[in-house]
Amino acid sequence: MHKDLYDLGETPPRGHVPARMHAFTLRRERYGEPRDAFAHEVVPVPGLRPGHVLVYTMAAGINYNNVWAAMGHPVDVIAMREKAGAAEDYHIGGSDGSGVVWAVGEGVRGVEVGDHVIISPGQWDESDEDIRLGRDPIASRSMRVWGYESNFGSFGQFALVRDFQCHPKPENLPWDVAGGFLVSAATSYRQLFGWEPNVVRPGDPVLVWGGAGGLGTSAIQLARQVGGRPVAVVSTEAKARTCRELGAVGTILRTDFDHWGRVPDEQDTQAYAAWTRGVRAFGKRFWEELGERRAPRIVFEHTGADTLPTSLYLCDSAGMVVICGATSGFQADVDLRFLWMRLKRLQGSHFASPAQCRRVIDLVGGGLLDPCVTRIVEFDEIGEAHQMIRDNAQPPGNMSALVNARAGQTGFGP
Ligand code: NDP
Repeated sequence: MHKDLYDLGETPPRGHVPARMHAFTLRRERYGEPRDAFAHEVVPVPGLRPGHVLVYTMAAGINYNNVWAAMGHPVDVIAMREKAGAAEDYHIGGSDGSGVVWAVGEGVRGVEVGDHVIISPGQWDESDEDIRLGRDPIASRSMRVWGYESNFGSFGQFALVRDFQCHPKPENLPWDVAGGFLVSAATSYRQLFGWEPNVVRPGDPVLVWGGAGGLGTSAIQLARQVGGRPVAVVSTEAKARTCRELGAVGTILRTDFDHWGRVPDEQDTQAYAAWTRGVRAFGKRFWEELGERRAPRIVFEHTGADTLPTSLYLCDSAGMVVICGATSGFQADVDLRFLWMRLKRLQGSHFASPAQCRRVIDLVGGGLLDPCVTRIVEFDEIGEAHQMIRDNAQPPGNMSALVNARAGQTGFGP
């Protein structure tokens, strides 16, 4: 018999789309600390649209972006969508996920009902004029991060995605692992290899901030795979050990330094001299950890205001600071002298292309890249898991939440 709502893990009959589903939602009146902002609700299953696919979600990755969504800052994602005409006054986040294609909309290509997929969050309109004129889709005006800027992410029993967001799940990969690494690993991949000529080459020193985080754990491994020499920055000795196990040639405890944040005004000679001493001491530590006096050719940034001045100072001449986020704040100081006199490049980078996603999935599927999904949580722990990220109390690597899957499950069906 067809029901209009199924329990988590209870599979509807093939082809049947129920009217309602379980989801972890955000609402404007709850914006604040993630623990309280997220709530388990029953909401309507999203309707199919042309070019879209309804995915029966098996597992969902936990990422930093839904910490920002929960806080309602720097972007109120619900208000942003309502302004663009969306009817829903709630947000179903989740930008990483794995699941089974359950229904396909008109005009869908390359995906069929029953496919086991990993979902990429890069969502855009392939017919948008700027894309047709050759712009990188990630920079298209139609680009939205699914499950952050767009609704119906992986924190719902059913997720709504475009067909090209679906990548085949390697058969051997459990759903919970498959749903937990792509945002981090593909973003790292593009940062390290997507910005020619500043890509990691054999022997290159690389500075990796937040080495034990979601991005950092993949960045260390990817840099190492091509012969790069990553030095990772962390805040605890335990995290430093994790980074060395993953291939970091050295580690720096950021707690040994205190020159973080905004750079003092040059007129304040004492404060400025203290800052300069701090950043030079950090640079000296980098050399010690690397084993030679060379500056990083690539600085892997996502930590933002606290670290960007150090990143730009340390970066090698003609090297690149490549940044995809700003955990500690987005208003950061840039000393332009270092940028132009030493031909340094400050490069923004945002997620990844479908081709880069596919390469990363192949690396993980082939056992060549550890996805570092180190903590699997239950569906009802989605709020707490985001709180851990907000409090910087998460385990090394990535976390994912079970939606319809059981822990460790790889297949589907009886
Ligand atoms: P994680 O929380 O897994 O890791 C972040 C790491 O940053 C932590 O392990 C912490 O390590 C370090 N960190 C935190 N605060 C500071 C600070 N003030 N100074 C130096 N290091 C700090 O997060 P992710 O790796 O998943 O994401 C990192 C950032 O990248 C987020 O801001 C996220 O929004 C962004 N991002 C952007 C993407 C994009 O496509 N644009 C995609 C994925 C992430 P420790 O305390 O040990 O130093």
